[in-house]
Amino acid sequence: MERVYNFSAGPSTLPEAVLKQASEEMLNFGGSGMSVMEMSHRSAVYQGIFDDAEASLRKLMNIPDNYKVLFLQGGASTQFAMLPLNLLDGSKKVDIVNTGAWSKKAIAEAKKFGEVNVLASSEDATFNYIPKLDSSQFNKDADYFFITSNNTIYGTVYNELPDTGDVPLVADMSSNILSEEIDVSKYGVIFAGAQKNMGPAGVTVVIIRDDLVGKADASVPTMLNYETHVKANSMFNTPPTYSIYICGLVFKYLLDNGGVKAMEAKNRAKAALLYDYLDSSDFYKGTVVKEDRSLMNVPFVSPSADLDAAFIAGGAAKKGLVNLKGHRSVGGMRASIYNAMPTEGVIALVDYMKEFEAANK
Ligand code: PMP
Repeated sequence: MERVYNFSAGPSTLPEAVLKQASEEMLNFGGSGMSVMEMSHRSAVYQGIFDDAEASLRKLMNIPDNYKVLFLQGGASTQFAMLPLNLLDGSKKVDIVNTGAWSKKAIAEAKKFGEVNVLASSEDATFNYIPKLDSSQFNKDADYFFITSNNTIYGTVYNELPDTGDVPLVADMSSNILSEEIDVSKYGVIFAGAQKNMGPAGVTVVIIRDDLVGKADASVPTMLNYETHVKANSMFNTPPTYSIYICGLVFKYLLDNGGVKAMEAKNRAKAALLYDYLDSSDFYKGTVVKEDRSLMNVPFVSPSADLDAAFIAGGAAKKGLVNLKGHRSVGGMRASIYNAMPTEGVIALVDYMKEFEAANK
């Protein structure tokens, strides 16, 4: 069977070259006589794979030396609890902006351990914009300030970061890490589940500034303490070895193809294809306000729920354009166009949108 254009929000499409390489190395990695899946995580050959993955990520994101990179389990969702458990060592206050379902989960977990100040919310308009922030409302003594940098479900992105002064800025970058150039030094902690722009599910990358490690109370469970994983170089227990290996291949692939700068240019061009068409059409409607549109997740609707359903079914059946259904809480369509979605996939989607519009107008 031909491969399809997979617009899934995550787990999502991966670079074909990476999948091919993994398949070639499946039975015998680098002359080791075994699959990466079968290796001891304590072996020299696996340590090499792990170290290469970290080094490549550091290079791609230009991560300063005073930041640790961790490869953890429990998904991005576990970070919603690890952050308050590790960072609430002072006023026990957290400033958070509510930009959707994932922010709400971060809020709910932080509330279990501290005082949460929701500075602003876009819930009044189904989270279709990033709220403007008034810095005079920021708590200068907050232990951290939390944002969801890209909102996977609603398709919004922060184009301007809040100036949090000395308060560490923490960002859930699950759905836009490595999609555009960022300055890591502006953040205290960055975290992201791998299953969108980095690799398979099962591993979560945490990039944490040195001074934020080692603050957890002694009552914090060992596995939920960042210090545990920093001290053990993410090998306190068995890490998700195969997922980390695939992430390493993806990082290497990105480095070989111009790095994040080149990805950003490609992502901007891909998103423009889709947004320009949405703007020119009076049949479809992009649901997000223009200035906050994500480069990664593009939600849109047709004139009716019945047409939405017909669009989704027709794309999958006839054109190999799959996973275009919007999140169940929003409806309509959502095209996730992560780094690994080829430009041809977006062109095929726009062609199909035109065809469907002409047939159903
Ligand atoms: N944050 C964001 C922005 C997400 O899109 C997701 C889910 N894909 C999560 C957190 C939760 O990630 P996980 O399923 O890895 O816990």
